[in-house]
Amino acid sequence: MTTPKALVAGNWKMNGLKAAIGEITRLNDLISTSGANCDVLICPPFTLISTLVGMGAKNVPIGAQDCHMNVSGAHTGDISAQMVAELGCGHIIVGHSERRADHGESNDTVKAKAAAAQAAGTNAIICVGETIDEREAGSTIDVVRAQVKGSIPDDARADNTTIAYEPVWAIGTGKVPTAADVEEVHREVRALLMDRFGEAGSGVRILYGGSVKASNAEELMSVPNVNGALVGGASLKADDFYGIISAYDKIG
Ligand code: PEP
Repeated sequence: MTTPKALVAGNWKMNGLKAAIGEITRLNDLISTSGANCDVLICPPFTLISTLVGMGAKNVPIGAQDCHMNVSGAHTGDISAQMVAELGCGHIIVGHSERRADHGESNDTVKAKAAAAQAAGTNAIICVGETIDEREAGSTIDVVRAQVKGSIPDDARADNTTIAYEPVWAIGTGKVPTAADVEEVHREVRALLMDRFGEAGSGVRILYGGSVKASNAEELMSVPNVNGALVGGASLKADDFYGIISAYDKIG
């Protein structure tokens, strides 16, 4: 059994102008000075990727929030996985619930995007999670199972796949599931990954996302099979985000 090194990843969503560059400098400095017992990633809007990678902040790798499923072609306004990989992104988030909801992305679409991300040599962070209606109907496990099974590409490998469990009702709301609820879902996702990848499935990171902040990070990140966090709002300010990274000083 392999326990993956934890990853604390920030998703800036549609936030960040050039003024936000200072947050990367600050985060890089905080990690240089005080360290990080986990891997770190920031996924800014496409517009900032080149600038942020170009800063060479060695403690703050840069990823992307989405990609098109095709390598190139007539897709006005879209960005391919190869394009962000060429800029230096090692991870691409796919299937975030805001993309599933706002852009009607199905599991098939997410699977194709994840395949494109992996073909470009990056690690696909595949997001899954139930809505509040699905949770209240008692179908959380069924929904997450279907999303995981339906969104992992056929030729995915354990070492280029990450799953982010993000209950939709917990994103940006300040509400978080109980540790027991998180544990139940992550245990199920781990079992699916072991079925899919065999022993290597133990090394796939399963991130938790949804209203993670410094004050709840230690509890959430201590749950079995939680191998890090995907963080929205609390990733925008370096000091807030570093507070989450620091939870790993106590978890070890
Ligand atoms: C997210 O959008 O991935 C997320 C987890 O957002 P927040 O941390 O703001 O809930």
